[in-house]
Amino acid sequence: MKYLTLAETYRDLQATSKRLEMRDILVDLFRGTEPRLMGRVVYLTQGTLGPDWEGLQLGLGEKLVSRAIALTAGISDDDLEALVHREGDLGLATEAAFASKGPKQVQLFQESLTVDRVFESLTQVARVEGSGSTEKRIRLLQQLLMDADPLSARYIVRTVVGKLRLGIADMTILEALEKAFLWAEDEERVMGSDKVVEAIYNVHPDMGAIALAVANEGAEGLAGFGIEVGVPVRSMLAERLGSTPEILEKMGGRCAFEYKYDGMRIQAHVGPGGVHLFSRRMETITSQFPDVVQAMESAFAGHEAIMEFEAVVHNPETGELLPFQEVSHRRGRVHGLAESVEDYPLVLFAFDLLYLDGEELLLQEFQLRREALESLLGKAGEGPIRPSTLRWVEDPEGGDDFFLEAISAGCEGIIAKAVGEGSHYRAGARGWQWIKYKRDYQAGMTDTVDLVVVGTYAGAGKRTGFYGALLMASVNQEEGTLESVCKLGTGFKDEELAALHERLSPTVLKEAPGNLRSGLQPDFHVQPELVLEVLGAEVTLSPVHRCAYGHLRPQTGLAIRFPRMVRLRDDKGPEEATTSSEIEDMYRRQLKRAD
Ligand code: AMP
Repeated sequence: MKYLTLAETYRDLQATSKRLEMRDILVDLFRGTEPRLMGRVVYLTQGTLGPDWEGLQLGLGEKLVSRAIALTAGISDDDLEALVHREGDLGLATEAAFASKGPKQVQLFQESLTVDRVFESLTQVARVEGSGSTEKRIRLLQQLLMDADPLSARYIVRTVVGKLRLGIADMTILEALEKAFLWAEDEERVMGSDKVVEAIYNVHPDMGAIALAVANEGAEGLAGFGIEVGVPVRSMLAERLGSTPEILEKMGGRCAFEYKYDGMRIQAHVGPGGVHLFSRRMETITSQFPDVVQAMESAFAGHEAIMEFEAVVHNPETGELLPFQEVSHRRGRVHGLAESVEDYPLVLFAFDLLYLDGEELLLQEFQLRREALESLLGKAGEGPIRPSTLRWVEDPEGGDDFFLEAISAGCEGIIAKAVGEGSHYRAGARGWQWIKYKRDYQAGMTDTVDLVVVGTYAGAGKRTGFYGALLMASVNQEEGTLESVCKLGTGFKDEELAALHERLSPTVLKEAPGNLRSGLQPDFHVQPELVLEVLGAEVTLSPVHRCAYGHLRPQTGLAIRFPRMVRLRDDKGPEEATTSSEIEDMYRRQLKRAD
């Protein structure tokens, strides 16, 4: 299969912002792909070479890649830079440079550039290590680009610099796989009705491996996938409510309340192959937490287990729990790890057990998972690994009591967990089986929200050279769109303003992304990647913002009033940001409370 077929598909995908159309373009691609190639085709379409946790990353520096392009196209670095300026990104600039080489050469190179060749070369590029690696990478890229037609070159370059960004949600790829290989030809079903492939993906999120299996064996291919030590399970997420009576009503009168620790979520896999730690976004973070690995090894020797916990920094003298920033500070640290382990000792509060010694607990009711967790860890604990503090709650007084206890212990609030029927672990889903109730819900607007930065406004006065404000959006999961919900201009410290400028300015886009909905035009649009936690005074109706547009009133969306930045959420990607329907719920609850 030629790589050009993929490049043409990518071009078609970028020409539409409609999710159904995207899905069907992918279905055509998948049906026309030799089954043996499906894994590679899917990884490439995601802009990767394998599942995230395997850690084989591209994302090469643009400078290095530019060198390879200039050498291949036979132009100077300055000429290439001028092209980038004119075209708007390195991919388009490469395409333009290659197109001006003339048709004869184009003819020549189209022969050899197959999907296999591109995948293998990119893998080699990603694997290069050690001294002289820059030169080796340039050489490998040059060899690849030498055989690329202009359109292929556009997408190869974007893939190499880690900016393929076709704007396709993972769920769209999953549904395309389902339609291509599990539905009868030309069959249509209600969107999102089936989700067989998605269910597998939630417990075994390796899109390439799943694609390869369904393409080769259809539904039978899915039977081989299940929970596996070493493969992260997608995280279960919580809905939110602002009071104990509301929670009890949702939970059918009875549930468990647990402290909501303000730390970092870690999923630990313990098995014969050692300990693996994954972040909430399923990245491998084992090497950043040698102390956690050691604690796991000694506590669970001889066991095979998958468990989730919140890692919290604490002061060993006073037993006091310290805020999240202390862990995130340590997380990115490569140097001085030993000192940071000493300065910031962690306590691990385990809150779920998904697998133990050959038994999948995922589909068991919450009480059974909790029992298994407690018998593994012991009921309470003084050591570095402890079960989360829990109380079974049946009345509002008991719940409120526990909520206050959690706050005075330095926690953010509580997470209520459903018990009984239907209380299994819902991998990859946000639902009412877990409900968070946080301290800050009690002030003004009842919660912070996590919003995606989609645009920037230039600053004036004291902020000249930085941003005056950012355009923020929530996520509409059904439509796969980003919907603007406020202009954020307060709450930034000076160093945060500088850091934001540094992070966002290289991601400026020439035009608004196809899936952005907003009535506002910022000075610049940026790649929708960065998530910020924001607290506002209230949710209001808005004529210019597009969150939940038309849901409450025609031609009216929702906005967050007086938004303030609380902190950067590097642990969350745009797909985990607050959804428009959550903000709609917040608005409706606000109305109810005002009654
Ligand atoms: P949020 O990030 O605000 O959606 O809240 C959910 C997060 O709370 C989870 O992803 C965990 O990182 C964290 N958390 C803290 N304590 C608990 C707990 N006892 N049970 C589940 N999640 C918890």
